[in-house]
Amino acid sequence: MIGPAGRFRARFHPPPPETAMSTRTPIIGGNWKMHTLRAEARALAAEVVAGVPGGVEVVLCPPFPWLADVAGLPRTDSVACGGQDCSPHEAGAHTGQVSAGMLRDAGADWVILGHSERRHELGESDALVGAKLDRARTAGLRVILCVGELDSEREGGRTQEVVARQLDAALNGVRTPADLDPADLVIAYEPVWAIGTGRTAGPEDAQSVHAFIRSRLADRYDAGFAAAVRIQYGGSVKPANAAELFAAPDVDGFLVGGASLVAADFLAITNAAAR
Ligand code: PEP
Repeated sequence: MIGPAGRFRARFHPPPPETAMSTRTPIIGGNWKMHTLRAEARALAAEVVAGVPGGVEVVLCPPFPWLADVAGLPRTDSVACGGQDCSPHEAGAHTGQVSAGMLRDAGADWVILGHSERRHELGESDALVGAKLDRARTAGLRVILCVGELDSEREGGRTQEVVARQLDAALNGVRTPADLDPADLVIAYEPVWAIGTGRTAGPEDAQSVHAFIRSRLADRYDAGFAAAVRIQYGGSVKPANAAELFAAPDVDGFLVGGASLVAADFLAITNAAAR
């Protein structure tokens, strides 16, 4: 019998063989933003680690000061840690910045780059995100690259244009598919109007942008690379909407902000994406 997820997939996008769902391990990121004090971070991480189901990868991204604490907790291979940003510089006189090498040394395997709160609060340009991505790769960090349009851009029918521009600039230094293992790149589609607002893209809207991102990667590199890259949806994901969003064939997991601060909610989202 075909369940709701199967019906959605068949109705909207019968997946070609190379995008068959079995090949991509779902990946759920918890972006704790500037929340938690040290004891809270340790307790939250411990509760999440204890409850993560099989069949998913989880990346916990605490604030920088707690990264080593969280990374040092006993955890299984399916739970990794990530930074929320890194400097484009290797080292030097860059007060307040945190290098990719420091993140690695603190126990991070991943880094979130291009989050809209950095693009829009701090004015990070597409080119800067690209420079950070190159630096992260050099340091051996895997990258969760955030892209997404503003509400006004969406209303103006410019979603694809904006997402393509952000993708192309961030991946400027990745010239050929051989330059980057697709397992080390996750694209997080995060429509800015949905982040922390309680508004969420519907599964059909999310699927349409995710499929566009995958086709852009196929054009830029090749179909095999595009099929292997995981694409997360982010923007007010909650236990109540995760399963419906995950039913979209090109949604390979989530980047979760607010709901990642409550272990039970984050685990419910993680369970919704477990295969
Ligand atoms: C985010 O910070 O990446 C995010 C998606 O936040 P929220 O889940 O709170 O919308």
